Amino acid sequence: MINKTFDAFYMFRWVIGEYLYPTLNVVMEHTHYGGMEHACQVYVTSNAQQMFAEIVMSHELAHQWFFHIIGNDQADVGFIDEGFACWLDAYYREKANPSWESDYVPSFESVRAYEYNTGNKHRINCSVNEFSSYNTSYWYVAYTKSPAIYQKLRLILGENIFIEGLKLMYARFRFGFIWLDGVQKAFEDACGQDLDWFFYPWFNNGRLPEYDLTKASFDPTTNKLTIDVEDIREGTHPYSYSQLVPIEILNKELEIIENCSIWVNTTQTPDVVFDIPDGVEPYKAILFNRGAALSYKLGWGDDDIIEEFLITIDPSTNIPGFSVLLVLFSAISTVYALTVVIKKKLNKK
Ligand SMILES: [Zn+2]
Repeated sequence: MINKTFDAFYMFRWVIGEYLYPTLNVVMEHTHYGGMEHACQVYVTSNAQQMFAEIVMSHELAHQWFFHIIGNDQADVGFIDEGFACWLDAYYREKANPSWESDYVPSFESVRAYEYNTGNKHRINCSVNEFSSYNTSYWYVAYTKSPAIYQKLRLILGENIFIEGLKLMYARFRFGFIWLDGVQKAFEDACGQDLDWFFYPWFNNGRLPEYDLTKASFDPTTNKLTIDVEDIREGTHPYSYSQLVPIEILNKELEIIENCSIWVNTTQTPDVVFDIPDGVEPYKAILFNRGAALSYKLGWGDDDIIEEFLITIDPSTNIPGFSVLLVLFSAISTVYALTVVIKKKLNKK
């Protein structure tokens, strides 16, 4: 464990900044929970198996930087230090133990499944006294949703810029207090662009976006397929989400004939046009959403060249390569997708 602690220590020092205390102790504790962080002290339970002990060690060690060096008000913005500690222990696992094949950072599929299972729709940017239940709400906000958002930001900005943002936070707030605007400003300065479009919805909306293929039409004279993807929760959010949504178009042999990722937000031109190869009829559209790959079977009317229509969702297609856990989440999402189909059928004229 000492060697592993050194590995994590040097990684965090490199990713964030210098460790500013004179000593660091890793202490075995005898409690029912996994570990605890105090300045200069990392507690790890004596009950833990090696893998879990290493996760706990790296998590509590990460708190030396996010909380003990870069301080924050844990009642109002506990998601900052807890979220970054979760992201950092996942980052350590990703780099140090890739063979574990665990899901390093909580994914949006797990956030979405949690939302469906518990009805918990907390926005992140709120104080603990606004939580309906400390255990479920705090766990959801701080340990699940926050690190998933930080990971999303890493994937959008790129790893180097994301790490530059962490270093800027360290330079500006070591032995000080950081709030969410300080986090946002550090990443804005690292990437050189305004990030309101990212931070406002992800930290202030209670619910996640929910994308749906709402219409499709095909003109065989020009081979143009036009589709419309919308966040069907758009009107319920205080802030509009804006993000890339992957789409694939398949032919009757279920071969991919077109694929792209489209930005979906309120200002996006709603129709996306695909140029389909000669003699090929688009047969299915796959929309990656809700923890599963939703498959829409396309069909066209006989009378008109352009016929708008709507879809049946085939829930059998999952994103390949998911872990067992995520397949479970996909299954939960699929139940929801089936509900959507039923609603659509009921609404059909
Ligand atoms: Zn923690």
